[in-house]
Amino acid sequence: PEGPIALVGELVADRAGGWDLAGVLPVELLRELGAGGVLCAEVEAAYGGLGLTSRLNGELTACTGTLCGSVRSVMTSQGMAAWAVRRLGDRAQREDYLPRLTGGALAAVAFSEPDAGSDLSAMTTRIHRDGDAVVVDGGKVWVTGARYADLIVVFGRCGDGGAAVVVPAGTPGLTVRPVPDPLGCRAAGHAEIGLDSVRLPAGTLLGGAGQSLPLLVTSALSYGRISVAWGCVGILRGCLSAAAGHAGSRRQFGKPLAEHQLVARLLAELVVAEQTATRVCEHASDCWDAGSAELVIATVLAKHVSAGNAARGAASAVQVLASAAARDGHPVARAYRDAKLMEIIEGSSELCQLMLARHVLETV
Ligand code: FAD
Repeated sequence: PEGPIALVGELVADRAGGWDLAGVLPVELLRELGAGGVLCAEVEAAYGGLGLTSRLNGELTACTGTLCGSVRSVMTSQGMAAWAVRRLGDRAQREDYLPRLTGGALAAVAFSEPDAGSDLSAMTTRIHRDGDAVVVDGGKVWVTGARYADLIVVFGRCGDGGAAVVVPAGTPGLTVRPVPDPLGCRAAGHAEIGLDSVRLPAGTLLGGAGQSLPLLVTSALSYGRISVAWGCVGILRGCLSAAAGHAGSRRQFGKPLAEHQLVARLLAELVVAEQTATRVCEHASDCWDAGSAELVIATVLAKHVSAGNAARGAASAVQVLASAAARDGHPVARAYRDAKLMEIIEGSSELCQLMLARHVLETV
């Protein structure tokens, strides 16, 4: 998708290092990206979106991931929010929210709580109907983009099941407290949110009350997993190009670093990491575009392989650049910190392994 990639290239350019050091993104720039449709690029043209396939959105996400992990994180959250509206919302809700999400409004998605991280079935945030209103009580942690968000999609318990509700910024009872000094994706606007008797119109409840909580969560997370996985492909592409450029030009012991076989091996491993991550992401996106039953497991595989490859690949790139990348502000140092977090979010590496093992046991 040349136009969207050019827009991201033009607006983000080489500014990510400064944003990372400052720990904040320029919100007007995020709105401009949002209004260009690139933050949730799969939304249909009828709602002002670009209507990209998952595969093309993946390439756009990878390009963004190469340039800036924080902008890519916001893109993942906005895409998940839009997907939640498309998947769970009724027609009136799609017509209300989606044009806003493709028009410059920013969104975040909140599942995690202090005592419900990997185990989301332990969430205690409650959403209940009260006449024509919906009332939300609880709290969420590490909500990417919440600092910038105009709308936060909050998941919680509702009766015996679950529900997702769209909470506008500024609603009485909603508090947003930025997470100080995150290890990586430092400008992604992570925040803790408090929900103290937040009262909203019933129309904010996506698709109504009392749905299956695991199904709600899995549906939103599948989009997030593909997006994070493609972001990791972007990290690997950036690291590969930085490591190859450095190894080809810096000389030690009378020849370029790349001609020392142990360094060449690191480069070869980076190529393998980037190529295998790309292939599993393409497969997951193709399953998504085809509506294949294999989709859920393909997204888990793509996320697991790509995140692990990115974390190891970024560490190798730091090794090749050595002191040249050993300071904050260098793109490879940033990639190293950002990549580690990709093994934790949207289902940690361990949770992905458990899901893959369960899948194989169910299918043998
Ligand atoms: P825990 O669940 O406490 O896990 C700790 C360790 O134990 C991990 O290694 C885990 O893999 C392992 N573990 C846990 N259970 C098992 C098991 N059964 N078997 C084997 N190992 C296990 N949340 C949101 O809702 N929205 C967001 O936008 C969002 N963005 C985030 C961005 C960043 C940068 C980070 C760091 C987190 C974000 N989160 C977000 C929260 C994220 O989803 C959780 O951090 C993640 O689910 C892991 O939960 P936890 O940190 O509580 O770790």
